[in-house]
Amino acid sequence: MRELEQIRNEIDSIDMQLIELLEKRIDCVIEVAEFKEKHRIPILNKAREEEVISKNSRYLKNKMYYDAMVDFLSSNMRISKELQNIYMNSERYGLLGEKLGHSISPMIHSLALKETGNRGFYRLFEVDRGCLKQWFEETKDKGLKGINVTIPYKIEIMNYLDKISDEARRIGSVNTVYFKDGEAIGYNTDYNGFGKLLSKFKIRVDEKKIVILGSGGAARSVLCCCIDNNAEEIFIVSRGGNKNKEISGAKVISYDELYSLDNKDIIINCTPCGMYPLVENTPIKEKVLSKFQTAVDLIYNPQETIFLKSAKNLGLQCVNGLYMLVAQAVAAQEIWNDIKIDDSIIDKIYMKTMEMI
Ligand code: NAP
Repeated sequence: MRELEQIRNEIDSIDMQLIELLEKRIDCVIEVAEFKEKHRIPILNKAREEEVISKNSRYLKNKMYYDAMVDFLSSNMRISKELQNIYMNSERYGLLGEKLGHSISPMIHSLALKETGNRGFYRLFEVDRGCLKQWFEETKDKGLKGINVTIPYKIEIMNYLDKISDEARRIGSVNTVYFKDGEAIGYNTDYNGFGKLLSKFKIRVDEKKIVILGSGGAARSVLCCCIDNNAEEIFIVSRGGNKNKEISGAKVISYDELYSLDNKDIIINCTPCGMYPLVENTPIKEKVLSKFQTAVDLIYNPQETIFLKSAKNLGLQCVNGLYMLVAQAVAAQEIWNDIKIDDSIIDKIYMKTMEMI
């Protein structure tokens, strides 16, 4: 006979597969809802429900389990109908990116929707590289109200939008799209989110010397925010140094040049180095951190990267990217719903998110 722990381990592994399958099933159910909506078909289809039960009973080896199977499938179908109902009666949002496993954006947006008394359904849209244009054209008229955009599409998406806000154009990246009156309008709320992070953790960038690691979308939002808040000097550290790269308002340097800089004030990691699942990675050698007073890592998963752990060991003020993530999501909700959301709501969602992850 197997030990209890062994049996429980097998149950855990089966549950894990069930969750994966449940998620896939829900995604199909939402597609069905879209089809039903388009063709004006009612949600409830009693005949289909009976068919599902009788078809699946043929796969059951031990017919003793028949009642359990009926219960299981009926509960699945009840959940499906409820979800279709919610979906059809809600505003629709989502996150667009290449790989979105374990994204916490749906949780943050669902908290934000609850806090603001709005009804919404937030989905994940994983799109392969090279397929963004086609996906966007097919999705644009499907009744979405808004999407957030993440790695690696914050710049490419700009090619397919009807309008881009002045701020997003200046930053050079879009992380929020609002579908309004048949137009797709691009915004950048990372800028706003980073600004809120600075105020929350009382990090002053005015007259400070700042080093930004990475030169992608997030780095550009952080750069603009630091410029607008009167930073004294800003360096962007890029793997290619200043070859082919001119970024106005900052000196672009290589990682080798970073090691020979004298003391600065704030270092901000805007690279994905150290992000889950490659949590052992770090963008720089620890010793360089001793030149700074404050370290910010835009990564929020894990909450303490090797970069932040090293900075903490050296006694620097350390802040991760979770507050920025919540603040940029709340700013997107403000745009989509044309409302003003108080900063106390950002704090509340931030606290709840920390408890839940
Ligand atoms: P991105 O546009 O792909 O830019 C990342 C930049 O990092 C690249 O341009 C590259 O700059 C550098 N980089 C990439 N891979 C690297 C590697 N292996 N080693 C060293 N440098 C590397 O991505 P992003 O949208 O800016 O996001 C960057 C990070 O910020 C991600 O971890 C993302 O999750 C996080 N983020 C967080 C928030 C938040 O709300 N907390 C918001 C936005 C982004 P060079 O080629 O110049 O070296």
